[in-house]
Order: sequence, then structure tokens, then C-alpha cells
Amino acid sequence: MSKPHIALIGMGLIGSSLGHALKKHDLAAHISGYALSPETRARALQLGFVDSVHDSAADASKGADIVFFNTPLSAIKPLAEEIIPVLDDHAILTDVGSVKKTVLDELTPLLQGRIHLVPGHPIAGTELSGPDAGFAELFDGRWCILTPSGDTSLIAVEEIAKLWRAMGSEVEFMEAGHHDLVLAITSHLPHLIAYNIVGTAAQLESDTRRDVIKYSASGFRDFTRIAASDPVMWRDIFIQNKEAVLEMLGRFSEDLTALQRAIRHGDGEYLENIFTTTRSIRKSVVEAGQDTDQPNFGRDQTPKS
Ligand code: NAP
Repeated sequence: MSKPHIALIGMGLIGSSLGHALKKHDLAAHISGYALSPETRARALQLGFVDSVHDSAADASKGADIVFFNTPLSAIKPLAEEIIPVLDDHAILTDVGSVKKTVLDELTPLLQGRIHLVPGHPIAGTELSGPDAGFAELFDGRWCILTPSGDTSLIAVEEIAKLWRAMGSEVEFMEAGHHDLVLAITSHLPHLIAYNIVGTAAQLESDTRRDVIKYSASGFRDFTRIAASDPVMWRDIFIQNKEAVLEMLGRFSEDLTALQRAIRHGDGEYLENIFTTTRSIRKSVVEAGQDTDQPNFGRDQTPKS
């Protein structure tokens, strides 16, 4: 394929980052865009990460070689139903959603044997949302997992893989269900725990809550960053990855009960063993290049007045 016409459906953090990265690396002949609100569409044009915006997803997708869905998961199927009838034969649908099996299962029956589907998930993001949150380097050196079915055209799969590599990502292929299980423990459960602990703090009496905020640098603030993530996006992730999340939550609850028992019985050896294992996992994460080895994530340690 020569330089493709790419449609971005959804222009928040991920959609705008895609637009910026495609522009920076000169990867598209034309980038058209659609988002729900006229404000986002106007802002996207102003920021310049798309060449045109349109009043409907179908209009934005007409003539596109590749369509990226960058919306909350629950919007993808209705959007696919709207745009597939207007797409040219051999157009490629892809997405960035954080759960993959539902995307594959819901969209495959809609393809009419003439459209390709290559679901994807960039393992990159921040807790911010909206068209101003994006930047071209978001995907640099980060994994992008593609989960096409075994029947998908290899040419289409390679086209999407090539785009992600050109935007700086390392591409990995995975079966969709396996992706959802892995992400349940690496991403979805940590978010659930963060939402829960920050939610618990929010219910405390006001004087205690005040002190929780004041002394939050002792650990709590790291949960608040994750718990500030977009509520709609995360609502959809938990609903669509229900089984894998419940499986991991079951294991987590058992392990938490064991920790609770060790504390109750003063079983220091058990606690020390677990904490030693977890420290070695942190070391592996740093060695795998997934985080900095600087103390406290390299934050400025100067005390704030
Ligand atoms: P976001 O910043 O909230 O942006 C979502 C975009 O989707 C907005 O432009 C929104 O339009 C648009 N939208 C919502 N409903 C729509 C609809 N029915 N039709 C058309 N556009 C619609 O979200 P995001 O963080 O970019 O996340 C987008 C997707 O990326 C999600 O599926 C998420 O699972 C996945 N993802 C996110 C991250 C992350 O860290 N955030 C990482 C990897 C993957 P308006 O602006 O007009 O509301």
C-alpha cells in the first residue's frame, strides 16, 4: 500500500497521539477525523493532527484505507455498523481498545468478507484524556499488541504492524483471549485496586481525609494517579473483560486473605518472603526497560512548601 488515507474515529489521548505520530513520521496521505463532540472536532483541526474533520464517523471513513477506532470500547460495535457499508473493499479496521476478545467477536460477523480486521492495543498511555492530552512520542519504545484472528489477511496484518513500528512501537502478536488474561493482571486489576483504595479514602471522615491527602506521598498518591483515569473507559474495560478480571480478582482475594492471616498471627517469615519476591519482580520490571531505576520514579525530591 502506498501512503494510506487514515481515519481516526475518536480523538482523545490515544487518537490525538496517533494523529501526531502519523504526522511526525509522515505516514499518511490524508488523516480524517471524527469524535462525538463538535468541540473535540474543532480542537483537533486547530491542533493540526488531522487534515479534515467530519460530522459523522461514516463521512470521516469514506475512502479511507485504514480506520482506527480510538473510542471507549462500548462505542466500537455501533460505529463499525455505521461505517462498514461505506468502506471500500479491502479497507482495514483496527482499534486501540484495552480488551481484545470482545472487539474480535463483535466485529468479525460485520466484515461482509470484504473488510479486514486487525485489533490492536498499544501498551502506552497516561491518566489524561481528550485531544490536548496526546503527543507524538507516546508510543515510542512501547509494546503494541496485535490480536488478529488466524483467518486475517497477512498483508493487512503486516500493514498495521508496519504503521506501529514506524510510530516507534515494538509489535507483538497474541491470541485475543490470552491478551485479556495478561492485561487483567498487569493493568485492569491494578486499576481496580487503585479505584478501591482511593474510593475507601474518599469515604473517611473529613478530618482523617484531610490528613490522608497531606501525607499522601507515603504511597497513596501513586494510587491516585491511576485512579484519576477516565471513568467511562474503565467502566467499559471491566464490563468487557469480566471473566479474566474476576479470575484474577479471585486469586488476588485469596492471597490478600493469606496476608491478613499472617498479620493476625504475627507470621513475619511469611510476610518477609512475599515482600522479598515482590521486590525481585520490581527489579525484573526495571531490567525489562519498563520503568526507571531512579528512586521514587525519578521524581524531584525537593520538599514542596
Ligand atoms: P479519551 O481521551 O477519553 O478519548 C475518547 C475519544 O472517543 C474522544 O475523542 C471522544 O469524543 C470519542 N468518543 C466517545 N464516544 C464516541 C462515539 N460514540 N463516537 C465517536 N467518538 C466517540 O480516551 P483514550 O484514553 O484516548 O482511550 C480511547 C481508547 O483507547 C479506549 O478504548 C481505551 O481502552 C484505549 N486505550 C487507552 C489507554 C490510556 O492510557 N488512556 C491506553 C491504551 C488503550 P469527545 O472528545 O467528543 O468526547
